[in-house]
Amino acid sequence: GLLNLAKAEPVVKVGVDTTFPPFEMQEHGKVVGFDVDLVNAIAKAEGFKVEWHTMDFQGLIPALQTGTIQMAVAGMTITPQRAQVVYFSKPYYHSGQSILVKKDSPIKDLADLKGKTAATKLGTTADIMLSKMKDIKVERFTNIDDAYNQLQNGGAQAVVFDNPVNINYAKTHKNVHTVGKLLTGEDYGIAVSKQDPRLLEKVNAGLEKILQNGTYLKLYRKYFGD
Ligand code: GLN
Repeated sequence: GLLNLAKAEPVVKVGVDTTFPPFEMQEHGKVVGFDVDLVNAIAKAEGFKVEWHTMDFQGLIPALQTGTIQMAVAGMTITPQRAQVVYFSKPYYHSGQSILVKKDSPIKDLADLKGKTAATKLGTTADIMLSKMKDIKVERFTNIDDAYNQLQNGGAQAVVFDNPVNINYAKTHKNVHTVGKLLTGEDYGIAVSKQDPRLLEKVNAGLEKILQNGTYLKLYRKYFGD
């Protein structure tokens, strides 16, 4: 049903895809990451409580449409197609796609992927982009870890995915690196059900507050700063 924001400390059901580190991941059974801290900070600033609902990336927009959740945070790229069916907050993170390969690979850019296999995550902007390229064979996985494993075991010659997640993987796997320029420019937004325009206002107001008061910068440094 509709969210009653007049109630003291309303509870907002937030969908999250926990296979997008360092934005969202599971640690000791808990949902953690930049996006999680971000939404918790917004909720605190705007006086609502958060109930986390873990699901596949593919399931988030349908769950917003049916009302199972009221909000979703998943490093979700703001696209015109998605914006037809859900609201997006103001952008909170600028990103783009990159190519991850083994360090001994001759692949340097998208053109080198002709006739090769690229692994990625199902239903993401990387999937949508790769699907338009007839010369590249695409393998799609629900969990991005399976795409990285496919690269490691030689089943794919590259992973094409959101650059910060590729970089995060390369930090702990020294045999791979990203190559070339970013393939896209994308902005992440928090998705809100079209049933809840007032929740969208709260999310944008909270985001503005934490950008102003230094909380956003603190979180950014915690997850991305060196
Ligand atoms: N940014 C990408 C998209 O929106 C990937 C998001 C994700 O895998 N959680 O499609």
